Amino acid sequence: MAKGVFPINKFQQLQTPFYYYDTELLRKTLQAINTEAAKHEGFVVHYAVKANANPQILRTIRQAGLGADCVSGGEIEASLRAGFPATKIVYAGVGKSDWEINLGLDNDIFCFNVESIPELEVINELAAQRGKTARVAFRLNPNVGAHTHANITTGLAENKFGIAMRDMLSVIEEAKTMQHIKVVGLHFHIGSQILDMGDFEALCNRINELQNLLEQHRIVMEHINVGGGLGVDYQHPNRVPIPDFKDYFDTYAKKLKLRPGQTLHFELGRAVVAQCGSLITRTLYIKKGATKQFCIVDAGFTDLIRPALYQAYHKIENITSEETAQSYDVVGPICESTDVFAKHIDLNACRRGDLLAIRSAGAYGEIMASQYNCRRLPQGYTSDEL
Ligand SMILES: *Cc1c(COP(=O)(O)O)cnc(C)c1O
Repeated sequence: MAKGVFPINKFQQLQTPFYYYDTELLRKTLQAINTEAAKHEGFVVHYAVKANANPQILRTIRQAGLGADCVSGGEIEASLRAGFPATKIVYAGVGKSDWEINLGLDNDIFCFNVESIPELEVINELAAQRGKTARVAFRLNPNVGAHTHANITTGLAENKFGIAMRDMLSVIEEAKTMQHIKVVGLHFHIGSQILDMGDFEALCNRINELQNLLEQHRIVMEHINVGGGLGVDYQHPNRVPIPDFKDYFDTYAKKLKLRPGQTLHFELGRAVVAQCGSLITRTLYIKKGATKQFCIVDAGFTDLIRPALYQAYHKIENITSEETAQSYDVVGPICESTDVFAKHIDLNACRRGDLLAIRSAGAYGEIMASQYNCRRLPQGYTSDEL
């Protein structure tokens, strides 16, 4: 089985665990996104900052011309610092606090994705205080399921996100009475790590129905925002380093009926950054149990929480050993039984000091790191700087 290619000599100088980002792969991924999106008129791509807000990663993505999709004031600040123009920043989230809304207003961001009437009222009030008009899109809950882990579906009626479809018209009517609100779009986001294009087709069908309904009421939106959610191949990071953006954008081009002049916005997170990142960790001890052996490493769920939180699979490679493979449970040092990266996996025989690469860790990895057990936060390095 082919392994990823890493600058091992450079790695030996660094304190483990750390994140390593292959900037060349990130650039190729961004190029694929731009090439495929450009084939369709009116397609605009934003990067969902919550997947990874490492400053160097953000700068590389901004250089490729993507906009920024933020879910907090902190993310708006990080995006502005990385040079994203405010005109390309959209801001979503069920619980926007006043300072966060004010930050968006003061910077004249492109759009607030609004998730409830009470929120709309507050935005109107705060905009009035500043003599501004807020551009808003309504995030609708399309009640479309996604074939992904239950903790990362967001578009079902039972989820906390968005406004119910049956309330769409009344919400739009109400917004019309607010002087400091301009309704410019509809927003959706059905979940994450979606690999079945049928899920996105179902969203397109739902949006087509809603647009027909709006048309009957002579309402036309400037833009439709379909969120993100495209998945990556966690099993085969070496074979499939770049997701199938052609299939993804073609699906929307074929199934979604845009009105003349309407733009279609996307908010991709995982698909942009997951495959370019690896968590590099050092083997501390090999502990042999009665029925299995543990490879105890210096990274834990404080560095990468996805396996503990979502039972997520990450491919692991011993990048400093070519010895015959053996079976291991790869576990971290944290005092919790869930601190396990993988069970019963084959690795080239591990010894103390060996470096392991936990692959496809560029999305929802470094950004979700915590200091539980008073651990240090992992550093992030890019191939550009090493
Ligand atoms: C998380 C999120 C995204 C990005 O999701 P991915 O699965 O990483 O592409 C996009 N839009 C919104 C509103 C989100 O919350």
